[in-house]
Parts: sequence; structure tokens; C-alpha cells
Amino acid sequence: MTCTLMGEAVQGITMCFLLLLFPSPSVGSLKERALRLMAEERVIDGHNDLPLQLRKQFGNMLSKIDLRSLPSTLTDITRMDQGYLGTQIWSAYTLCSTQNKDAVRLTLEQIDVIKRMCSQYDELELVTSSEGIERTKKISCLIAIEGGHAIDSSLGTLRMFYDLGVRAMALTHTCNTPWAESSSRLHSSFYNKTKGLKPFGEHVIREMNRLGMIVDLSHTSTFTAKHVLSITKAPVIFSHSSASSVCNHPRNVPDDILQLLKQNKGLIMVNLHSGFISCSSERGNVSSVADHFDHIKKIAGAESIGIGGDYDGADRFPEGLEDVSKYPALIEELLQRGWNETELAGVLRRNFLRVFRDVEMVSNRSHHLPDEKEIAHAEVKNPCRSVLKDPHDKVKTILNSQATNTPTAFFGFYLLLTTIFIILLSK
Ligand SMILES: [Zn+2]
Repeated sequence: MTCTLMGEAVQGITMCFLLLLFPSPSVGSLKERALRLMAEERVIDGHNDLPLQLRKQFGNMLSKIDLRSLPSTLTDITRMDQGYLGTQIWSAYTLCSTQNKDAVRLTLEQIDVIKRMCSQYDELELVTSSEGIERTKKISCLIAIEGGHAIDSSLGTLRMFYDLGVRAMALTHTCNTPWAESSSRLHSSFYNKTKGLKPFGEHVIREMNRLGMIVDLSHTSTFTAKHVLSITKAPVIFSHSSASSVCNHPRNVPDDILQLLKQNKGLIMVNLHSGFISCSSERGNVSSVADHFDHIKKIAGAESIGIGGDYDGADRFPEGLEDVSKYPALIEELLQRGWNETELAGVLRRNFLRVFRDVEMVSNRSHHLPDEKEIAHAEVKNPCRSVLKDPHDKVKTILNSQATNTPTAFFGFYLLLTTIFIILLSK
């Protein structure tokens, strides 16, 4: 900044002096402005797969690692702090290949490791509400399930996950479930006839609305996403997806769904993984990521956007956004492109908080009882699924069959006697 000291010199000098002492919010380099804003509005990130790395690399043994410094992953507490991360939505994820096998147990173990991690380190705190995020001075942890195969088509299991603190669930990962279609065909052996959202899937959405669990549409097919958007009573999120119009990948969101998301007052938290950003062999850079933000803003408005890094869930990230310490570079780039600080406060955390509060409000206003719908065995087609029946049913079945057989037996006996009698008479 320069001050031309001409004419009313004294007034000019005073103004310069005051500005130096009390700089206006727009004063300073872009980096300083980004950091100042982020100190107030710390990032809420929609998706991080560190728990998956904890399982793969360390067998979930937290005693073997120091989460403050973990060089073999893209996430640790030191870098979270450098990146001004305020809240992380941690993914409780188990592979699609566990569907109809031990997906429920493995998901429980991932929830367990997230809970242990967030209670063992003073810098972290597990929260289960929007109020919890706003109250804590620590980095808050939210738990989200990635992939509906985790609930094994059971609303009772879904409710128990909620009771354990789960506050969001992606309906699918890269496999269909009996009730929802995935955007991916990586596991075509699973329910390849599922198209969009099936009737049991509607029950899942209504139960999530009733519970106050955020519906996450990342990884779902466009048919599933549109169907959910037409029936949900609460805003939904895409926790880690980017814009199809910028990078045409099935994991990204097309413009017509972005418009529906705007009407739903929901949120797309932009995925930073190179594969969904540049759609080429190029890694991309901060500018390629900002292109997605600009496009989504044009279609759905800045109030529909957040950040869902997908760190530790993917292998390549754009230059300048390599790990969780790098969020400030993105905010600096968006300032450079003319995004104002209100819009960026939304991107950083306020948009997600609004969505979460709305989801909680829909739940609080619901007067429905827990949904007792059970999926039909014919829809699941899983031979490992036990068919439990009341033992009295068995007794009844035997009695019924006896009752049904009695007249036949009696008639047979009567016929035999009559035949013998006629033979004797005829002799
Ligand atoms: Zn994912």
C-alpha cells in the first residue's frame, strides 16, 4: 500500500498510521488473509480414510503409533493443525468384498478405532452433534459409514450404528447393495440387477431422516441420487465428489443433480483426489481444483460447497494439496479468484454446519416410531443369512400337517376294512 503525501499531508499521514496499526480485513497478502479467515473458520472436511490406513498399515494398533507424527500417511495431528482443520468426518469403511460376510463386524471395528483415536489424544474430541462441533476448542471427530453394505440390509443395525455415534452414511461404495445402486461396477457380482433406489432403500432414507443421520450420496449412481433427492425430508451431502462438467468421472456430480442439490439445500464437499480433479494422467494443481469450485458455484451457489479431501483414501493428489496441511493453499487460490470471505466461511465450515443443523431439526420434528420393515430374503439372496422362526411355529406346522393328514388316513383305513369285509363275504 502506498500513501501519496500531497496536499493535506497531516491527514494522510494519520490515515496511513491508523491503517498500519489496525489493518482492514482485506489488507495483507492473500496468504495472510486466508490464514486469518481460517483461524476463525477452521475447516470441516467431509471425508478422510486414515482409519482404513490404521487397519492396513498397523492392524488398528494405536499403541504402536504416534498419531502426532505419522509419515506413512497423509494425515496426522501435526499436519491437521497446520492445515487449520477444525472437524474431520472420519470414514468407517470396509471393503465391498466383505458384503454378506463380516461387513458389520469390520465396520464396528473401524468405529472402535476412530473412537479410541479420538479419546486417546487430547487434541481430538468425538462429537455427535452440530452443537458439539461449535462448542469444542479441539479438533472434532465425526463418524461416517462409507457403504450401505455395512448395515447388512437391516434397519435395526442402522439404528445401533447411530447409537454408537455414527452421524452420516454413504449409501453405497463401489458395489451395489440389494437396495441401492452404486456409480461403480467394480464389484459387478453384487446385485447387478439393482437399479437406482429400491423400496427398501426408501425405508433406509426415511429412517436416516428420522434418526438425524446425514445421507451421503457420494459413490451412488445418478439414478439413486435423484431418487433420494426426490424423497428425503432433510438436506443431503456428497461427502467427497467433484463436478462432472469439469472432469467427467462417474464419481463426480452432473449439473442437473447439482441443481437438485441446491433446491435440497444440501452440500457437495469437493474431492481433492487427482483422479476426480483432472481426469487425465496429470496430477493437477490448486488451480485445477479451484476450477471445480468455480463451476459448482456457478450451478449451485457458493452455499452448496464444502471440502471433502479424501486424504488417505486415494493415492494421488494435486501439486500443492498433497496432504491435510495444505488446505490454506486452496483458500488462497479462491481468494485470488474473487471469492469473498462470507462465501469462503461457508465453504470452510458454515455450509456443513447449516446442513447438519437442518438434519437434526428434521429428526427432532419427526414423530414416527422406529421403522420395523425387514427386507425380503429373496431380495438379499444370501445363503449365510439365518432364517429365524419361532419354535412354536414348528410345532404348529407339525400339528397342522397331522390335522391335514388325519381324514386321509382314516379314509384309507376305512377303505381297507371294507375291502377285507367284501372279500370275506364273497367266499
Ligand atoms: Zn470413497
